[in-house]
Amino acid sequence: MKLLPDHLLEGYRSFIEGRYLAETQTYRALARDGQTPETMVIACCDSRAAPETIFGSAPGELFVVRNVANLVPPYSPDGEFHGTSAALEFAVAALKVKHIVVMGHGRCGGISAALSPDAEPLSKGDFIGKWMSLVRPAAEAVGANALMTAGERQTALERISIRHSVASLRSFPDIAAREAAGELSLHGAWFDISSGELWAMDPQTGDFERPLAGIEPLPTSG
Ligand SMILES: [Zn+2]
Repeated sequence: MKLLPDHLLEGYRSFIEGRYLAETQTYRALARDGQTPETMVIACCDSRAAPETIFGSAPGELFVVRNVANLVPPYSPDGEFHGTSAALEFAVAALKVKHIVVMGHGRCGGISAALSPDAEPLSKGDFIGKWMSLVRPAAEAVGANALMTAGERQTALERISIRHSVASLRSFPDIAAREAAGELSLHGAWFDISSGELWAMDPQTGDFERPLAGIEPLPTSG
């Protein structure tokens, strides 16, 4: 059996001979001095929505946690296993990041699952169902809206869920305190895989707009 799949080894070779070689000094400095990223991104596990790729980030720039549908659970210090909350704790208390961005994306499978409550769970444990219950009230409300098409409901819940996660960030006392002190800003973003468009959430209204609307990633089809 191969220790690693060929495509990973080929990708690694290209990385080490290309980017790592070009940025050796950066990597060595990061190894020597430690990381000091100013931005944390909470993104989806989806293979098409990698924040480092979308934001063109250099090593050491982004502190990233990815989970199904880029959700932030509410602050629950209950002794259970909280991977996302652990990452948040480290980013805020140790790294003292200045920005936290919740980044959703179009065609999100987790959001799609939340909008299909009657679908059979993928496994007995139904981890996805439990995880996505974080947005259940919104999913039920959006799912019941017969005036919207399936695609509209999907995009709506993707964005509502980002607003919901940004609100959940504020349930963490450290985050709320640092935000109130002006040391931390919270943001929402949504990436459209098919067009490459990046949308950002207005912190006052919660609406999404394109901060770089002049940039046209792709000629619109149709
Ligand atoms: Zn997703």
